Amino acid sequence: MSDLKLCQGPKCHTYHTQDRLKGPKGNKTYQTRRRSSFYYGGGNFCDLRCQNDWINKNIEHALNHFGRTTEAKHLTEDNAWTKEYDYENNDYDNKHYVSINKITKERRPLTEEQYGDNNYTLNER
Ligand SMILES: [Zn+2]
Repeated sequence: MSDLKLCQGPKCHTYHTQDRLKGPKGNKTYQTRRRSSFYYGGGNFCDLRCQNDWINKNIEHALNHFGRTTEAKHLTEDNAWTKEYDYENNDYDNKHYVSINKITKERRPLTEEQYGDNNYTLNER
């Protein structure tokens, strides 16, 4: 039981579903969902409703804490690189990874390792 995670949705226990109804017979209560893993919000929420409840409750505090965007960002050729993959001639055994610049349309090949590396980018920081 102890390695189960609790959904972080502040109202999770208020949603009436059979899987939330727990406890001894005659004394069941709706409870926050617990599971070994969750799919939403970095593994913290049981569903999008619970994720949205958390965001609605905490968004102002979170933005003030982590910093707001105060000026418009600009997409230029220095930061327009994206990572994509495609298949040559619809051959699904032949996957190609590529960086594409969304401004200049330039394409540069990527290795699978570079594609999967979240720290690898051609964009200027
Ligand atoms: Zn939940």
